[in-house]
Amino acid sequence: MKIKMVDIAGNLNFVREKISKACSRRSPEFGNSIPRLVAVSKTKPANLLIDAYDAGQKHFGENYVNELIEKSGHPEILKRDIRWHFIGHLQRNKINKVLAVPNLWIIETVDSNKLASALDTAWTKYRKNDDNKLNIMVQVNTSKEEEKSGCDLSEASSLVKHVIENCKNLKFLGIMTIGAYGYDPSNGPNPDFVSLRQCRDDICKELNLVRDQVELSMGMSTDYEHAIELGSTNVRVGSAIFGERPPKN
Ligand SMILES: *Cc1c(COP(=O)(O)O)cnc(C)c1O
Repeated sequence: MKIKMVDIAGNLNFVREKISKACSRRSPEFGNSIPRLVAVSKTKPANLLIDAYDAGQKHFGENYVNELIEKSGHPEILKRDIRWHFIGHLQRNKINKVLAVPNLWIIETVDSNKLASALDTAWTKYRKNDDNKLNIMVQVNTSKEEEKSGCDLSEASSLVKHVIENCKNLKFLGIMTIGAYGYDPSNGPNPDFVSLRQCRDDICKELNLVRDQVELSMGMSTDYEHAIELGSTNVRVGSAIFGERPPKN
């Protein structure tokens, strides 16, 4: 068996450099805050996450509940102040498992009123004190593909309204999309990113929110720079940091 070595620190530096260059190409309307880099570690072993953390990476993303539980409970990982992002589809019967994760920082994939309400209720059992709200993002299915999770674009505003008005234990941070795979940015701005941004503007108008306070989570290994140019504040990058994953079966 061939063992491929991955230079995690080198990859991280490379990605950070690209992020900073992409920021300098943004239109001034996006201000000058640096987007958050979430290192997506699904399928990768704990030792690679530790390498990344020790190279200065704080935010990590996982898609699968069992994998998140396993890694977040690893003794070496527990010693580190990792901020976990849950970025997979969340079934309501798994809520308690995810909320019990030490250092859970955000759930990026809230896609229905029911899920939001269930998280709101369950969080009271896990929060550190009454003021400790759970960060969430609302996932939007911008590509309208059947198999993708996320609420419809037309429902996003009412879901955000529900979170803000009825879910006092949740803190609404922004909206997230995965989008269609394989879009070639040489054909112009990615339509998924453009619709997420438009969706944010519509939400802000309808609910009277400040645009700078509603984040956009969009962009992965192949297109994070492009996403940043279009206003992303949170990029989720996996293979460019940790190396290719084995294909899904
Ligand atoms: C896997 C995954 C990513 C990262 O994908 P890469 O192409 O490896 O960067 C980002 N977001 C979500 C929701 C994912 O499932």
